Amino acid sequence: MTKRIEVGLLGATGMVGQQFINQLAGHPWFDLTWLAASERSEGKRYADAAPWRLDSAIPGGIAEKMVEPAAAGKGPKLVFSALDANVAGDLEQAFADAGHFVVSNARNHRMDPAVPLLVPEVNAEHLALLRVQAKRRANGGAIVTNPNCSTVVLTMALAPLRAFGLRSCLVSTMQAVSGAGYPGVASLDILGNVIPFISGEEEKIETETRKILGTVAGEVVEMHPVMVSAHTNRVPVIDGHTETVSVALDGKPKAADLRAAIDGFVGAPQRLGLPTAPKQPLVYMDQPNRPQPRFDAGRERGMTVTVGRLRPCHVLDWKFVTLGHNTVRGAAGAAVLNAELMLAEGWLD
Ligand code: NAP
Repeated sequence: MTKRIEVGLLGATGMVGQQFINQLAGHPWFDLTWLAASERSEGKRYADAAPWRLDSAIPGGIAEKMVEPAAAGKGPKLVFSALDANVAGDLEQAFADAGHFVVSNARNHRMDPAVPLLVPEVNAEHLALLRVQAKRRANGGAIVTNPNCSTVVLTMALAPLRAFGLRSCLVSTMQAVSGAGYPGVASLDILGNVIPFISGEEEKIETETRKILGTVAGEVVEMHPVMVSAHTNRVPVIDGHTETVSVALDGKPKAADLRAAIDGFVGAPQRLGLPTAPKQPLVYMDQPNRPQPRFDAGRERGMTVTVGRLRPCHVLDWKFVTLGHNTVRGAAGAAVLNAELMLAEGWLD
């Protein structure tokens, strides 16, 4: 790339919006020039619109930028979206209809049959669905989504197991408080506590996983046959979703076969050398008490998913633990990687 392309950000003031700003600071291909949020923030300097909540300074040049209204047709052609799901559905649709490429984190369009639900290491070929959207919108606008934060972690860990006939999966999550946005869960509800309910989360994991692991057939994605049952819990962790997983497989792999598949797992981002791609997307940790969110969620700038404790399961076949950074690999980093893949493969031309 000789010239960076301008990009915008919807929902720039939220938890995920701030991670986007971090991810895009100094990006070799994308230049973040336009920030938008709600009426509460528009017309303010970014630094005054909402408190910065990451443990690094606001990247250079961003603090002084004005927050713009989230009006379709304004801003660069490529916009990332970290919008609240209550408004993302209509707003993202309006931006795409006005000719923007919308690369979104929000749940609203993920299960639309024409919208790629992308984890670039797992299903890069699902970008072919953009041809279906091109038939809908003559002006070239489109929506691409990344999955729910728990689902990204789960599908990264399950992807190498597809080769062994993945039949069913039980997953229990321990999800960080940053996954609930800001101010999120009240401190008196979560400190010293576990909340065994996250609204809509189990349904998202159970359906999104099958679309991501599925295959493109003509103009639709054929869902992967794996049946998924999810339990979701909010725990007093700041960043990093931990998931304990049991799987049933049609094949009869040995532990060494599974380890080799996990250790050797790479996808399009690694082959293309995308700027945000981790060198090793899945890392297996041999220590019996790892991965842990405090020590392992930040690996490779939060883009690596860690796996550990692979062992036989006496109810299904195998069980293990997996962990990923929810606002990076599960949100902003995932969307930036999606846009890098789109650019590298020529979908943004
Ligand atoms: P958040 O902290 O509540 O931020 C929401 C953002 O949306 C803010 O910038 C807010 O602007 C903006 N917004 C709200 N109403 C708006 C309107 N009417 N018009 C324009 N902008 C509006 O939420 P978050 O945790 O960052 O999550 C953002 C999205 O990513 C959600 O859809 C969420 O489900 C998804 N997601 C989150 C995570 C995670 O780990 N947190 C992971 C994956 C996906 P103001 O500040 O001006 O109100």
